[in-house]
Amino acid sequence: MPELPEAEVVACQLRAALVGAQVTDCWVGRKDIVREGLSSLPWYAGSVLQGVDRHGKSVALRFIKEQNVRYAVAELGMTGLLLFPSAETKHPQHVHVRMTFVGGREQEVRYWNPRRFGRFSLLDQAGLDRYCARRFGYDPLTVSSNDFLRIITSRRGRLKPLLMHQQSLAGIGNIYANEILFRAGLHPNVMASRLSSARVERLYHVTQEVLRRAIACGGSSVKDFFAPDGTEGQFKQHHLVYGKEDQPCPNGCGQMIRRLQSERSAFFCPQCQDRRKWR
Ligand SMILES: [Zn+2]
Repeated sequence: MPELPEAEVVACQLRAALVGAQVTDCWVGRKDIVREGLSSLPWYAGSVLQGVDRHGKSVALRFIKEQNVRYAVAELGMTGLLLFPSAETKHPQHVHVRMTFVGGREQEVRYWNPRRFGRFSLLDQAGLDRYCARRFGYDPLTVSSNDFLRIITSRRGRLKPLLMHQQSLAGIGNIYANEILFRAGLHPNVMASRLSSARVERLYHVTQEVLRRAIACGGSSVKDFFAPDGTEGQFKQHHLVYGKEDQPCPNGCGQMIRRLQSERSAFFCPQCQDRRKWR
């Protein structure tokens, strides 16, 4: 379930605790967790963590050694976590990577993920560029309003799947798509290409506002998300529609929140998000 805000929270905590620290060891328990670059594993010992970036729902740790740069990229989509030793690790058999450090506030980062195959990559710069080009479209926090308008209106199809289409906008998943659409007053199944530019402009601002607020709250802890220090995100308390089926609309319109069983469940208010309102 981690989406963009949760990945951003993870990247922030790693940055604050470990940038400038030196790797003493990088251990991989199950070889099949590594999608690419397993043979470069010994390179990481002795390198220094230079920065931590987020790409979509993935977190990339950037290391430098003798003027060479390499990355360790962890996918957080669905179930992945990066944890400090102080965080309690449930089911420790799912810790597949451990990186140990000296000179930082923490001594270790663990990559925990019950889904094993290919969720972690050890990449050089060209490898990271390829990795991102294949997977990630624009970042919703930095995309310009013009590019956002083009993405939304140039594609055929329904709006909610488009918001979650990672090669168009990278990082929004089911929870935030529902929360964004409710706040923007748009039906999940409205045809994206029919939206007026004023509607898309509003959607653009609402998207950034929701994601920024969620980051400030430490993300949403639904199911299994914990930040590296073990804390839960508090944005769940600000969810207005996600998981609120059959509860009264928080706008006070008198309707109940409904759930659509599409490919991913959509939660919406049939009055505030009337399908006919798209101009
Ligand atoms: Zn309503």
